[in-house]
Amino acid sequence: MKVAIVGYGTAGQASAILLSAQGHDVTVFERSPTLGPVGAGFLLQPTGIAVLDRLGLAGQAMALGQRIDELHGATPRGRPVMAMRYRDRRADCFGLGMTRGALFELLREAHPEAAHVRTGVFIAGYDAATRSVIDADGVSHGPFDLTIAADGAHSVLRVGCENQVSREALYPWGAVWCLLRIDDWASPTHLRQRYAGTRAMIGMLPVGTRPGHDGRWVTFYFSLPGTVVDVFDDLAVVAMKATVAEIWPELAPHIAHLAHAEQLNRARYRDVVLRQPHHGRLVVIGDAAHAMSPQLGQGVNMALLDAAALADALRDHQDIDRALDAYRRRRHAHVRIYQRMSRWLTPLFQSDRTVLGWCRDALFGPLGRMPGARGPMLSILTGEAGHAAEPYSRVRADSVYALGEGEQGRSG
Ligand SMILES: Cc1cc2nc3c(=O)[nH]c(=O)nc-3n(C[C@H](O)[C@H](O)[C@H](O)COP(=O)(O)OP(=O)(O)OC[C@H]3O[C@@H](n4cnc5c(N)ncnc54)[C@H](O)[C@@H]3O)c2cc1C
Repeated sequence: MKVAIVGYGTAGQASAILLSAQGHDVTVFERSPTLGPVGAGFLLQPTGIAVLDRLGLAGQAMALGQRIDELHGATPRGRPVMAMRYRDRRADCFGLGMTRGALFELLREAHPEAAHVRTGVFIAGYDAATRSVIDADGVSHGPFDLTIAADGAHSVLRVGCENQVSREALYPWGAVWCLLRIDDWASPTHLRQRYAGTRAMIGMLPVGTRPGHDGRWVTFYFSLPGTVVDVFDDLAVVAMKATVAEIWPELAPHIAHLAHAEQLNRARYRDVVLRQPHHGRLVVIGDAAHAMSPQLGQGVNMALLDAAALADALRDHQDIDRALDAYRRRRHAHVRIYQRMSRWLTPLFQSDRTVLGWCRDALFGPLGRMPGARGPMLSILTGEAGHAAEPYSRVRADSVYALGEGEQGRSG
């Protein structure tokens, strides 16, 4: 097939690798003039690590990133609010902190056609009649048998899924974040967070190495109302540092060098729900199909799962309509669960509703210890809630299987 992929983020990169390996003629369009990662770091869950395993990249990812074993949230006085251990899900379970750059380079190197990505091309629309994509200059590219919209949370292509966008809202809160070089961070295998009510949240996620830089890195993030994120300036950096000194004093020396707003990335989140992620020969994947708040740390994970599920569906069905239907069915339950959970849980951590913070502080600890509640909480954390377990839900500890061996992976 002739396949167009719009966007070279994680979803687009993974799709390009998988579909090229299946022998399809893949053309990738990316709006950035040069290829490179956006953002700081992220937490990859076991289901996403297993997709990297399937690509033969899990070993390298582990070497580049930082294994995460536990999540800890505490009040400013250090009282635990949340303490979740991956190994309580199963003995071989863990997360992986990575820099955006490390994952981007890993996927780019695994994509033999990466040098042919059409950079600097902003795709502004999809013409269903001619099965072509139209760029910002009005130039038509195509026709393609299939177009994959992987153009991220602010996708312009998802409207091509006529009448299928049932929700598209901006979250009232966002965050600023950056990478900090800390070689001797005291909790290298823990994601740590501090909460003061629902209006202040600070996170420190160890993410391992960073391409082109020495040392070990940690992602620092700081929650803010969206209106403050939009106008974040040097004065806001001063205010942020004062809050950090107040609620997490041990962290203050590590951010002492931050003085300018440009030293931090800003993030606003979208909540996007599609009734159906495909229409005709257009399929929408990754954040473009299901952008959500990053509270549950699932977006990169889901982008990888989408790419793998779409490649499997196209491999299993000659007929594209049937393949897209199979893809939708495979991803539906997982996507819906995380859309709902992130919509419900985000206000407990980022909102103006103080009472929600009290409920969180009072209930999360006991719930995490209750046998009936701990299992579901862990399945949500690990990205496994609602996910059809086979064929790529767990990293195989004994071997890393490469492209083309997917059938063995399925039957095994
Ligand atoms: C603050 C924050 C923290 C996060 N933390 C985590 C975490 O811990 N764990 C996790 O799993 N996820 C996390 N996420 C979510 C994660 O970043 C996203 O879900 C993930 O990057 C989505 O990948 P994608 O490929 O769908 O989209 P993107 O990575 O956004 O890629 C989209 C690509 O398309 C290109 N593009 C866009 N429009 C066009 C166009 N019209 N034409 C051509 N190219 C175009 C863009 O330049 C970009 O390269 C976080 C997100 C934020 C904001």
